[in-house]
Amino acid sequence: MDSEVLIEARGLTRRYGPTVAVETLDLTLRKGEILGLLGPNGAGKSTTMKMLTGNLAPSDGETRIKGVSLREEPKAAKRHLGYLPEQPPVYPELTVDEYLRYCAGLHGVAKADRDAAVDSAKRDCGLGDVGHRLVGNLSKGYQQRVGIAQAIIHRPPVVILDEPTVGLDPIQIREIRKLIKDLGANHSVILSSHILPEIQAVCSRVMIIARGRVVYNESIDATRGSGVGAITLGLRRP
Ligand code: ATP
Repeated sequence: MDSEVLIEARGLTRRYGPTVAVETLDLTLRKGEILGLLGPNGAGKSTTMKMLTGNLAPSDGETRIKGVSLREEPKAAKRHLGYLPEQPPVYPELTVDEYLRYCAGLHGVAKADRDAAVDSAKRDCGLGDVGHRLVGNLSKGYQQRVGIAQAIIHRPPVVILDEPTVGLDPIQIREIRKLIKDLGANHSVILSSHILPEIQAVCSRVMIIARGRVVYNESIDATRGSGVGAITLGLRRP
């Protein structure tokens, strides 16, 4: 039997003046999936994620999170989501513990539960030893771990991560990919990337977006040896 539908987006469209960034995009995320959004720069990945998380109003279309309409009940719908934007806000002068406690408050975690939430998120993100360190003094890889920790601080069923490995060195990239894969045990994930091998290493399914439209939507197994890289580059039609 198919697992529970966590996100159901239908006909998502976003126009910026004459530019159509995303056009009639349908997306379904089920419990247990790690879904990759793959596409070159400017394909529409970030715009899609901003609409899915309620950070950007679509020009058309709508999203339901666990059956709750993002347009009609944004607060209730967003409770089911964690989000790491492509350019997350940085609070360099806070310690990791202070920052995560602050984020727990923002996400509605009760005061009495915040320390436990911080400890749990740190454990899941390999931050056990750095709670007292200033965020601004951490490496970029550790800052991304902190970014992922804030996204899971309220234990949402869905975690949306916008290109979390961009700008990291190869070791950090390997570690963050493993972390995201491990997250899949307790969360359903949407991960954007422009790197096919990254999506293949981490995800269970991939949707390829080109010029704002979905041009491919298959299991990861179907992508192996299928010429899918050429679709990403727009070299051949799906
Ligand atoms: P990248 O990998 O570079 O982040 P992306 O796949 O996330 O790219 P988007 O950032 O969603 O792509 O952009 C999709 C299209 O929408 C691009 O043509 C972009 O220039 C345009 N766009 C995005 N944001 C705006 C904006 N605020 N105003 C005007 N055009 C925008």
